Amino acid sequence: MTRATTKTVGLVFDDRYLAHDTGLSMIEDSVPWPFPTPVPHPSSPELVGRAKHLMDLGGVTDLMTRIEPYEADNAALLRFHTQDYLSRLAVLDRTGGETGSGAPMGIGGLRIARLSAGGVMAATDAVMTGAARHVYALVRPPGHHAMPHEGMGFCVLNNVAIAARHAQANHGVRRIAIVDWDVHHGNGTQTAFYADPDVLFISLHQDSLYPFGYGNVDQVGDGAGEGRTVNIPLPSGSGNATYRAAFERVVVPVIDEFAPDLIFVSAGQDASVFDPLARMTLTTSAYRAMAGIMLDLAEQSCDGRLVVAQEGGYAPQYAPFCSASIAETLTGRGSGVMPLFEPYGDYDSSIPSNERVGLDAEQALQAVREAQASYWTSLR
Ligand SMILES: [Zn+2]
Repeated sequence: MTRATTKTVGLVFDDRYLAHDTGLSMIEDSVPWPFPTPVPHPSSPELVGRAKHLMDLGGVTDLMTRIEPYEADNAALLRFHTQDYLSRLAVLDRTGGETGSGAPMGIGGLRIARLSAGGVMAATDAVMTGAARHVYALVRPPGHHAMPHEGMGFCVLNNVAIAARHAQANHGVRRIAIVDWDVHHGNGTQTAFYADPDVLFISLHQDSLYPFGYGNVDQVGDGAGEGRTVNIPLPSGSGNATYRAAFERVVVPVIDEFAPDLIFVSAGQDASVFDPLARMTLTTSAYRAMAGIMLDLAEQSCDGRLVVAQEGGYAPQYAPFCSASIAETLTGRGSGVMPLFEPYGDYDSSIPSNERVGLDAEQALQAVREAQASYWTSLR
């Protein structure tokens, strides 16, 4: 099959994304004294900013076509969010504050959130019009936890849900597949399409991490959408080998069978081995592999139309390398090209879960196949 060639890959980025202000973080701030020294909020600008900087330094940006983001208007946002929530965001835009449950924004934050959602919409426009074959939307704030009526888990607007509905409303797309490999469950996106037979939502995540009550294997969709939600909860400690197996045994056969017209990836790089908010062990080679598989799936099923949207990733010294590795893979440049090397050494083989699928992971993957077998002939 044809891999992407130079300049057929788009990049959405805007320096204004770095102005989204999440403030400082005080762990154990419920204890009156002594206060520990605050640290930057986990979802600080340096994650996305450093990813872009690495892409610049590594020459990856030069291989990509710049796609200009725009501010998503209310009509676009209302395809997923409620009017009441938009009204509250308009007030918070002037004051800053908490948009819901663990999703703070600063003064002016609504415009940046609109630019983030509109960035994924612009990426969608590009792949649908042929301006680019695949696009990495390196946006901020992230989106996949945002619910219709509130922000949640660092997410203000649900960028991918909004962009998927935009593709259906304005580009005549019907069948969409969304793969969410952020280590947390994409509860907002699942909610958006839970009863929709035309949108396949697949989430790989650390079992029972966040948010509570979402992402179990028995959450398979509802009504006409039954069988169109595929949850892959993986045990903590899962590594490259388990993710590879999850793709080979579930993600690839299901997407092949579904045959989408457009594919999104909710790409959070917080299943990395250095991430402070999760306990998985992925390295850059896993992110290259997953991006490569998604490219192949897009080429096979939908003429390459692939939009990769940034979600989480909280290891400032490592998540940017994972994101840049994904972008580099999209451009078709081979893995391991300087300077985007594995920054902390080739230690994959020193982590057992990166070399082989453990018994707990085998059981988890088997549970997914059993929960989904009645909906997918390829899983029987
Ligand atoms: Zn996450």
